[in-house]
This record gives sequence, structure tokens and C-alpha cells, in this order.
Amino acid sequence: MLKKLTKNCLFNTTVDNKVHNNITMSKGAVLNCHICNESTHTFIHEKTNISYYYCEKCAYIFKSPKYYQNFDTQKKRYNLHTNDENDEGYKAYFKRFLDFVLPVVGSPKDALDFGCGRSTILSNMIKNKDIKCDFYDPIYHPDTLNDDKKYDLIVSVEVFEHLHQPRTTFEYLSEKLNEEGYLAIQTAFHSNDIKTFKTWYYHQDPTHIVFFTPKTFTVLCKQYGCKLLATNDKNMVVIQKEKADIL
Ligand SMILES: [Zn+2]
Repeated sequence: MLKKLTKNCLFNTTVDNKVHNNITMSKGAVLNCHICNESTHTFIHEKTNISYYYCEKCAYIFKSPKYYQNFDTQKKRYNLHTNDENDEGYKAYFKRFLDFVLPVVGSPKDALDFGCGRSTILSNMIKNKDIKCDFYDPIYHPDTLNDDKKYDLIVSVEVFEHLHQPRTTFEYLSEKLNEEGYLAIQTAFHSNDIKTFKTWYYHQDPTHIVFFTPKTFTVLCKQYGCKLLATNDKNMVVIQKEKADIL
């Protein structure tokens, strides 16, 4: 039975319960990792005074949840994005993603672009490869998701860095995959070095709140019966859902 996904799964300012319990503890409390529940280290970005939390075990970094924005504030920022369907730059951008992903995933029949934004460019490019492709976005296309449908391939480009509950979303997506189906994600990986992280552009976008490496995805995979098949070690991973054990 699939869990009921609401837009809150992507954009609610509430994080997973265990994390939330820790947030409500007194100042100075150690936050546990949203991904693997280990204790984290905290560091402050001196220019912005924003606190970040770093998990050594799974290399996950997240901004202090007090900087997570509510749904309407995020929406205003996303409305500034212009995704012209005919923009050649966007097509080249998505082509780089598909050039990495498609050779790994064989011949999927049904695909989903999860968190597509306003644009349907990527889903149209996938359709042009003779793969059926649905699209969903909690802001721009909120009614296109069929909770009962499963897919051979789910793509999610520049979505995961926005997630307040990445583990919940990952679990949901893994359940929406057919057995041996693929989840292909693009999100910029951090360098796993705090000094370098502080000079990184990627977390300066206020809607970018959580940051991954391939190791983080490997830990997530183990929790939800998946395996990491391929990464470019920069910003892309391809994950496969494993066959359920037959008793
Ligand atoms: Zn962790």
C-alpha cells in the first residue's frame, strides 16, 4: 500500500518526527541526522550566521530547520524561474542528465518526472525516446500524480536539495518503483569538506536546505531495499530498486 503523498512531503516546514522532537529541545541540543539518525556536528557559516548540521556517517548536511521556508515563500521564488519550453539551454541541460541516465536504465516503459516545476521539457524529451512519461509538481502540476501507479523509471532533477523530509520522499519514490525499477536523481553533491562547503554557491539559494553525496544515497538505499548503481560523482545518481526476497 502506497503512502498518501501530499504536497507537504516536498515542502512542508515540518521535518521527520524524530528530528522535530530534537528541534524542540533546548538551544545547543544535538540534532540527529534526518537520514540515518546519528548525532551530527554543527557549524556556522560566518557570513550568513546560518547553522548547518553535518553527519559524518552518511555525509548529509542540512541547514538549521529554522531557515526552512514555508510553502508560499518558496512558491514566490520558484515563480521567478523561467522555464521556456523552447529554451535550447534547458534542453541541453536535461540532455546531459539523460545522456548519463538512459544508458544505465535499459528500456523503461513508464517514467515519471517527479518535481518537474512549471516545465514539461524533460518529460517531453523522455517521451521522444519512446518512453511514456508522466510529470508531477506540487506547485505547478499538483493533480497529476496517480498514487496507485508504479514506474520503471522515476527522474527527479534539482528537487532533493529542497526537501524538508528527504527520507520520507525517498521512501515514497522507492515504493512507486516497480521491482528493479530505477530512480535517477540530480542534485549537486557537496565536497565533504566544511571549509570548501562554506564557499560553495549551492546552499546560498534559500530554498536549498539539504545536501548530499553519493554516500548519503547509499545509506538511504540500504534503508529502502535499493542499491546505488551509478554516479558521476558530481551531481547525478542512478538507483535501482532490488527484487523483493521470495520466502
Ligand atoms: Zn547521517
